[in-house]
Parts: sequence; C-alpha cells; structure tokens
Amino acid sequence: MPSLNRQIIIAACLGVLIGWLLSGVPDDAGIREGVLYASTLAGSVFIGLLKMILVPLIFTSIVVGVASLRAHHQVHRVWVTTLVYFVSTLALAMLVALVAANIFKPGAGLSLSLFAEAMENFEARQLTISEFFLHFFTNLFQNPFTAFSNGSILAVVVFALFLGIALVSGGERYANILQVMEEFLDLMLRIVGWIMRLAPIGIMALLIRLVAEQDVSLLVTMLGFIVLVFATTLFHGAVVLPAILYAVARRSPLWLWRGAREALITAFATSSSAAALPISMRCAEHNLDVRQSVAGFVLPLGATMNMDGTALYEAAAALFVANLVGIELSFAQQMVVFFTAMIASTGAPGIPSAGMVTMVMVLQAVGLPAEAIAILLPIDRLLDTVRTAVNVEGDIVGSVVVQTVTDRAEARVTG
Ligand code: ASP
Repeated sequence: MPSLNRQIIIAACLGVLIGWLLSGVPDDAGIREGVLYASTLAGSVFIGLLKMILVPLIFTSIVVGVASLRAHHQVHRVWVTTLVYFVSTLALAMLVALVAANIFKPGAGLSLSLFAEAMENFEARQLTISEFFLHFFTNLFQNPFTAFSNGSILAVVVFALFLGIALVSGGERYANILQVMEEFLDLMLRIVGWIMRLAPIGIMALLIRLVAEQDVSLLVTMLGFIVLVFATTLFHGAVVLPAILYAVARRSPLWLWRGAREALITAFATSSSAAALPISMRCAEHNLDVRQSVAGFVLPLGATMNMDGTALYEAAAALFVANLVGIELSFAQQMVVFFTAMIASTGAPGIPSAGMVTMVMVLQAVGLPAEAIAILLPIDRLLDTVRTAVNVEGDIVGSVVVQTVTDRAEARVTG
C-alpha cells in the first residue's frame, strides 16, 4: 500500500484525468450523471467531515497554544511576529499582482459588449468600506455558542484567546480545565488522523467535478487573465514565500512542499482554507516540526486573516476590470486598490469564492462597476484552487517563520 502522501497525489492526478475524460461526454449521458453524482456525494462527505472537526479543533488548539505560550511569556512576541509576517507577505503579494497587471494589461483587448449582458442581469450586493469595518468588528465578539454553531472562525478564535489567557493568569486554580483541554485537543487530532485516510477519495471526487464542469469556451475567452492570475499566484507561492522561508529559517522549498503537500492539495481541491485547516495543522506539527503552541495559534488566525492568494487576485482582478471598461487607473487609485484589497482579503472567510464577495469593496473604492463581478464569477471556482493553496502555503510558512523568530529572540534573552 503506498503511503498516504503518495495516495493523495495519485488520487489528485486521477481526479483531473477522469474529470477531463468526463468533460467530453454529453451532459445527459448516464455515465456522466452517475460519476458526477458519486463525486458530489463523496466530496461533500469529505468536506463535511473536515467542517465537523474544525471548530472544536481550532478552539482547543488556540486555548492550549495560548496557555502554553503565556506560561513561557511568549504570547507577545508570537503575536507581533505573526502580524508583521501577515502584513508584509500580503503587501508583497499585491505588489506582484500590481506590477504584473501593469506590464501585461489583462483585459485590454477584450470587448466589454461580450460581457454586457452578464453584467446587466446581475445585481451586485453593495459593500462600502465603512459597512465592511462595522461588520468585521461586530462579528469579532459573539456569544461563543452562536459562533460555534455558525462556524464563525474569527469569533471562535477571539473567545479562545480570552480563555487561554485567563486560564494561565488564574494559575494552578484552573490546572484541571487546562488538562481537559489538552486531552480534548489530543482527541481531536486523533479524529483528524482518521479523516485524513479518506482524503484521497475526497480529493479525487472534488477534482473530478471541478474539471468536468468547466465551461471551456468561457475559459478560452478569458485565457489571458486566467494565465496571468495563475502565473502571478504561482510566482508568489513558488518564489516569494520560499524566499522568505529560506531567508528566515534557512529551509528549502522542497522541505516545505514535501511537508505541506497534503494540506496544499486539500486546499486546492476544496478551495477552502478553513476546510484544509485541520490538515495544515497536522502537516505543520508532524512534518515541519512546528510546535503545537505556535501552529495552533498562527494557522487558525492565518486561515481567516492571511490570504496572500486572495489579495493578489483581488488586486489583479480590479485592474482587469478597469482595462475591460477602458478606465486607466492612476497611481493613487492603484494605491487605493492596494490597501482595500489588503483589507478585503483579511476580512474574507476561508471558504470557496469568499474573495468574490469582498472584491466588490475593492471595485467600488475606485469607482469600478460592482456588477463586473458577474464576469469573474463563472471562472472563479477554477481560480480559487490555486489562490487557496497559496493562502494555505502562506499560513504554513508563517508558522515556521514565527517559530524561528521567536525562538531566536528567546535564545538571545536567555543566552
Ligand atoms: N477560497 C479562499 C480560501 O478559502 C478565499 C477566497 O479567496 O475566496 O482561502
């Protein structure tokens, strides 16, 4: 029996192959319907299992992680390093997008009339920056039970942070609760191990559907833009992030990709950083030697706040839409795109196509028609694959970087 890692890679290739073969079969053929039905079922069960474990896993891992960081007086350092890492990698991602979009000018040759109908029949939900902030901050603090049942990850993170800090500041008095949390976390990780065994089937099923259901003629029309987004996102994932990893932790890209492979493929197939989170945590801890206290803090936070691929995409897409409608964005307007895309990606939850919702804010900020989202939606499922994988890669690199930096600082203080 090949290792799980190998099984996942074989399954992903098979998924793409079967999906491609299926795309040549007429829509009403029995075999196509049967295979698509089975893949929908298997894919939904896999995602359902990941979602089932998600909230209890991030809750306990943050409580236990923060408690042990605080016990070692490391919370502050981890927190600051994490934020600096998130902001700087997001900024780099958007720089890559803006430079590439200015050089290659995607959308400049396409005629808007081609899309006019799609835009006319689509009413985008308006989202201003002030509304966005209001929504973001009011959602941070919620009744924990509401947050648990709605799967509002950021609110769960916030409550767990409070609890972790309170547990340690109470000292010995709460030692039992902390121990229960540690045992609970251990249990959750055991279940993640079981779910992982189903990953090859789940990933194959998701990829079959994804590939079989693509509208090829639309993809051809938008080819220039799609290639640009893929190329820049891959550049960020294959050059920028590994360079940061090497500069800070002296680790090679191969070491990273080998260790993070399962998480990256899951992110690619599910298009959801949140769904991939249980697997990212496992990869970071088991394969990349990141301590639970660091991985349990950086990864859940990163899955909702640190989205390099999404930020890059939103910036590139805004320039694409501008070219399409024939508006030349000035440098100042591009800076507005830069900052709003950064905020928008931070606020996007780690679920499929979440970036599309917050993208409206970026378009509106520079006066572009929000309805242009209608042009991007049909190709989004495809673009979401690579950007989610890079989002997750950014989080995993972040956990290694944060651990290295805090360990170094600690050694300097104690040494
Ligand atoms: N699907 C992305 C993620 O989960 C978010 C997005 O860009 O739509 O990371």
